[in-house]
Order: sequence, then structure tokens, then C-alpha cells
Amino acid sequence: MLMKERRNIAILGSTGSIGRQTLDIMTEYPTLFNPWLLTANSSADLLIEQARKHLPAYVVIAKENLYEKVRDALSDLPICVHSGSEAISQLVTSNEVDTVVTAMVGYSGLESTIAAINANKDIALANKETLVVAGQLITELLKHSHSALYPVDSEHGAFYQCLVGERREDVTKLILTASGGPFRNTPIEQLPYMTAADALKHPNWDMGAKITIDSATMMNKGFEMLEAKWLFGIDHDRIEIVVHPQSIVHSMVEFCDGSVKAQLGLPDMHLPIRYALGLPGKRLVTDSHKMTIDDYCNLTFERPDFEKFPLLTAAYTAARQGGNLACIMNAANEVAVAAFLHDRIHFTQIHDIVAKTMAGVPFIASPSYDDYVATNNEARSYAESLIQ
Ligand code: MG
Repeated sequence: MLMKERRNIAILGSTGSIGRQTLDIMTEYPTLFNPWLLTANSSADLLIEQARKHLPAYVVIAKENLYEKVRDALSDLPICVHSGSEAISQLVTSNEVDTVVTAMVGYSGLESTIAAINANKDIALANKETLVVAGQLITELLKHSHSALYPVDSEHGAFYQCLVGERREDVTKLILTASGGPFRNTPIEQLPYMTAADALKHPNWDMGAKITIDSATMMNKGFEMLEAKWLFGIDHDRIEIVVHPQSIVHSMVEFCDGSVKAQLGLPDMHLPIRYALGLPGKRLVTDSHKMTIDDYCNLTFERPDFEKFPLLTAAYTAARQGGNLACIMNAANEVAVAAFLHDRIHFTQIHDIVAKTMAGVPFIASPSYDDYVATNNEARSYAESLIQ
């Protein structure tokens, strides 16, 4: 088959942290990639700026009341402007699209990811909540699709690289590394007094606000455990979380002969994005800064503190019980994190709200897509009612 010169990339959530870094990679490899579709939720100004610079065929602003602003600002360019989340789900199925980068935040990524899978598109998955919320459904859909799911998350990119050339049945354990977040050394009794500004000072990674708070509570690592379970078909009791404050070892895989493979690199999201976009099987050459011995001469590892970070336990509970429980957990967490970012609740109340919502919203053992949608709405209202 004759390969096209450039792959058309749909970047869902181009104005977020991963979306912006994906556009950096588009700029780094102009002969390989063409940003065909850019979408944003509500960051109209940045979307307009990105569209003027990268000239995609389409842009979508999800918030409909911003449509005219974006359309008018791009009216002198040959760019089609749409609005609404339905437009995103339709455009990702276009014959023109080769790869979909799902970089939107939270539950909002689910619908368009399902549309992309049903249209047999390759997906560079940066929206981990999709697998957290509906891993069972996504896994089922992938069985009947030609799409491949390539992880963008640095830890899952590490697992992927460690598993190249290995038989899945030889894997005995996935060892998921965690930086420990900004409160790793904060005494547990001080946690209730930590503010959003404190939590947003992440030691290693430059990320969006939502994931940075998830990193501070370690919910992010719980999500990544669930993401790994579904991506690699490994049960939660064979996924171990290890705190590694330097964020140089991105994760490890243990095999049946006792051997352990690790993947290392600088904590820079451009690396896993570059790897995911090179797949299948091609590494992209880069001139960007490489690791030196100063970066890895002092690597340390420690066990996570489940008492201090109880959302880790919540995630394992959700993995063990399955059904819609992780969907409930995710919805409650989204509501609680937003409330914390607006100084409406204390840091430790994030867990309280998640735990109460997980206990309060009805459990469904084998949810359909409609059940996930209903569960998400119900859990959000339930969590909101706890915040008043
Ligand atoms: Mg990660």
C-alpha cells in the first residue's frame, strides 16, 4: 500500500498541556504530521492562535456560545469552524483522519474516543479517564475494531516499551512509578491546610491543573493503575505502585524469570508523545535535550503511603469491584477537584467526597454506555450535594 507522505492528526483538546506539547511535535516533524483537526472546550483565544499558526482543515470549539467568536477570527483562512461535542465525534470518523490524539480532560473524552474506535482510527490516548471510567466497554469495542490504542501517559509508554518483543504470559508484575507529588514530605496532619496554590507546585512535571491536583492526592496514580489494567490486560493485584521522586524511571515490568525491565528518560511529556506518534515501530529522531549522568546518578524508590493518600486504596477497590464503581469515583473526583481549585473545600475533603459518593451511588455490575452516562451524571450531582 502506498503510504501518504504526512499523517493527518486530530488533536482533541489542543489547548491543554498535552495538546500544546503535541503541537510542538507537529512543528518538530512537519514532513511527518499534519494537524488536521484542533478542538478546545472553552479556550477560544488560544484555539484561534493555534489555528492561525498551524492551519488545520477543521477546528471545533465545544462551547457553542464561543462559535461566532472563533468563526469570525478565522474567516480570512480556509479553515472550517464547528462547535459542540457532537461535531468532534463526527469529525474524528472522517476518512481524512489517520490518528486521533485524545488530550481532553476527564470524562469528556469518552464519547469521541468511542467514535474514533468505531471508525477504526489509531488513537494516541492521553485521556486516561476514558479507560478509568469505561475500561471494560472500551476493551470490548477494541476487539471488534482495527484501531490501535497507543498510550501517551509516560508510565504506560514505559510499559509499552518494556513489553516490546515479550510474551504477555511471561509478565508477572507491572511496577508503576509515582513521583509522590508535592505533598510527599508533608506530614499527614498538615494535609487539611494545604491550598490549591501549594498543590499546583509539582516538583517534576509541568501539567494541567486537574492532573496536578490528582498527582497531589495520588488519585492520578490510582487512575494510572486502572489505565494499565485495561491497556495491558493485567489484573490490579499484579500492578504495584512505587514512589520514585526523581521521575526518571517511568515504570518497570517484572517477568516470570525474575528479570525486571525499566524505561528511563527525562520527565518531559514531549518524549512519550513523540514515542506514541512514532508507533507502530518507529522512533522519531530528535535534537532535544538528552539525559546525562547528572540526571540519573541518584535514583531512589520507596513504598507509597496508603494512609496519607487514601485515594490509592479507593482506586484498588474500584479495580477489584469493577462495574461502574470507577466511573463513580472519577465523577466524584472531578467535582471535588474543581471545588478544591475554587477554594470551596479543604484538600482532605477531596477523598471524603469521593469515598461517600462511591458508597452512595448505586452499583451496576455490567454497565452499558447509557449506564456510564447516567452514572456519571448521578455521581456528579451526589458529589455536588456533599459540597454545599
Ligand atoms: Mg503519568
